[in-house]
Amino acid sequence: MIPVNRPNITEDDIEEVTRVLREGWVSGDAPEVALFETEFAEIHGCAFGVAVPNGSIAIELLLSVMGIGAGDEVILPTFSIISCLAPILRLGAKPIFVDADPHTWNMETGNVEALISPTTKLIMVVHTYGLPVNMAPLMALSKRYGIPLIEDAAESHGLKINDSSCGSFGIASTFSFYANKNVTTGEGGMICTNDEQLYERLKYFRNLTFRDSQRFIHTDLGWNYRFTAIQAALGRSQLRRLKDSIDQRRAIAQKYGAALQDVPGATIAPRKTPYALNDYWVVGIVLEKEKFGPASDVRRKLAESGLQTRPFFFPLHRQPVYLESPSYHSQDLPVADGLHRQGFYPPNGLGSSEKEINDSVQLLGNVLKNWQT
Ligand SMILES: *Cc1c(COP(=O)(O)O)cnc(C)c1O
Repeated sequence: MIPVNRPNITEDDIEEVTRVLREGWVSGDAPEVALFETEFAEIHGCAFGVAVPNGSIAIELLLSVMGIGAGDEVILPTFSIISCLAPILRLGAKPIFVDADPHTWNMETGNVEALISPTTKLIMVVHTYGLPVNMAPLMALSKRYGIPLIEDAAESHGLKINDSSCGSFGIASTFSFYANKNVTTGEGGMICTNDEQLYERLKYFRNLTFRDSQRFIHTDLGWNYRFTAIQAALGRSQLRRLKDSIDQRRAIAQKYGAALQDVPGATIAPRKTPYALNDYWVVGIVLEKEKFGPASDVRRKLAESGLQTRPFFFPLHRQPVYLESPSYHSQDLPVADGLHRQGFYPPNGLGSSEKEINDSVQLLGNVLKNWQT
């Protein structure tokens, strides 16, 4: 089976991890962590980074520290991962979902203004599958209504939107370093910001609300969400290769694109928009229902031929855990529903061999070309 993801861990990465282990300062207080935070934040147009155990905790810590709570409304895309919804529900806030744009699969920015209410406390943007959101209209809304905006940039490390870095637009942005992300530390995450006060509060709550004076007396409840120096060493080494990694993802996407060129009814994620280039974190493919039936039928056939794939997100507004929650309210979001039914992505691991990718491209092309319902 060709796996959907294989991380790329190089000899340099291993050297760097070994170096930190030899140095012996392995905890979250090590200088290595601060170096990774600064280097990663800088690439994303931010002065400060706060590394945490994963991308889901990055969102949860950020929302908690921003004081999101009962009665607050948070606007976010429905076509996204549970990590965006879980903290909203846990904090007792109310998610207000935005449907997807049928072309970019990102949140339909034109639908956001109508969803703003007097209790809207946050706009959460997600750069889906590595194609950045058009930030200009959203930043204008954020400014006009005085509503803070954050970016979940877990799938778009090192990208630009026009001339600004993805992750530098709102009050803060969050990243993940899970094994399938463009910079991996195995597990890991980061919050980036230019707001020094927010930065200090994030660090304080990440570190059990210890203070410099009277260290063991606490006036707030925090968490131990520290990051290890071992992860930081791996992250710094991976970060040095980020440009190459993005180029590699794009080259893989180009191969899939060429194979699907003469397959009517199979659409690959757009290479670019007027404001940004896709990094093809994954190579999303949407199949026409009339020709292929649901994507699950095609995925089953691909699995039989030795190709692992992943379905698209299950829309957040349909998650059983949300339907049961006190924050539930009905919304009709048909584009995201359609994407879930018709979309999937094939293998594109940075650690996959060229042969593995070529085989995968050929297999997918053959199955789709010869498809009969
Ligand atoms: C991967 C991902 C996350 C979650 O990150 P973890 O490190 O796996 O917790 C959150 N948001 C998006 C958009 C992601 O792709």
